[in-house]
Amino acid sequence: MTITDDQQNRLRELQTVFLEENAKLNLSAIREPDAVWIGNISDSVVALDLDIFQRSDLKILDIGTGGGFPLLPLAICKPGCHFTGLDSTQKKLDAITRMTNALDLTNVRMLAGRCEEKGRDSQHRDQYDIVTARAVAPLNILLELGGPFVKPGGHLIAWKSMKMDTELEESLLARANLSCHLVDTHEYELPDDWGKRQLLIFEKTSSTDQKYPRETGIPKKNPLL
Ligand code: SAH
Repeated sequence: MTITDDQQNRLRELQTVFLEENAKLNLSAIREPDAVWIGNISDSVVALDLDIFQRSDLKILDIGTGGGFPLLPLAICKPGCHFTGLDSTQKKLDAITRMTNALDLTNVRMLAGRCEEKGRDSQHRDQYDIVTARAVAPLNILLELGGPFVKPGGHLIAWKSMKMDTELEESLLARANLSCHLVDTHEYELPDDWGKRQLLIFEKTSSTDQKYPRETGIPKKNPLL
């Protein structure tokens, strides 16, 4: 992964502004400076190693961005790409806006709302080269929330732990119904005691069936199984 010295400095600035915002707002349970660096920032930039991240003009959506991960570290390291952060909680988006202003990040915009609604909006449906999601939902729910935003031929990246055989098995129907096929996995290990994790990469092979996403709340209440 190539991160320039300038980007490394900007990631350190992000660590500082995130700690300030998190002290006010409870954006994340991770509060120690080192833990923010490893658990949020290093964990986010791992995706830069993927082949699909090598282009410079990608249109990327981070669903359930919360306090801005993986959105903000990726936006710092890929200045030529256009990023959108989607979350249903306005106060988190306001905090991210303050962080992007402090960092002078001009390639990030925020989108307030539910995936289930925005995924039906033609401005967002089938529009993104890459959709990212960390700590949002189990795979079968996640694919229904995130799959509709992916361009046919584009990808969804899910940040996951290593032990997820059951979750993977339980996503078979969602993968078929949402035309999202598992094409790659990328294992990595974070320093100290953070351990092994993986990125799961899904390719969307055709436009999303009109049935999806279902109404707000239904993907979680009645997951595809
Ligand atoms: N990606 C961040 C935050 C994870 S917490 C990180 O890894 O640190 C999950 C976030 O997803 C919360 O902020 C929540 O508001 C948002 N979220 C959950 N379901 C959603 C939905 N259906 N539509 C939009 N946002 C959702």
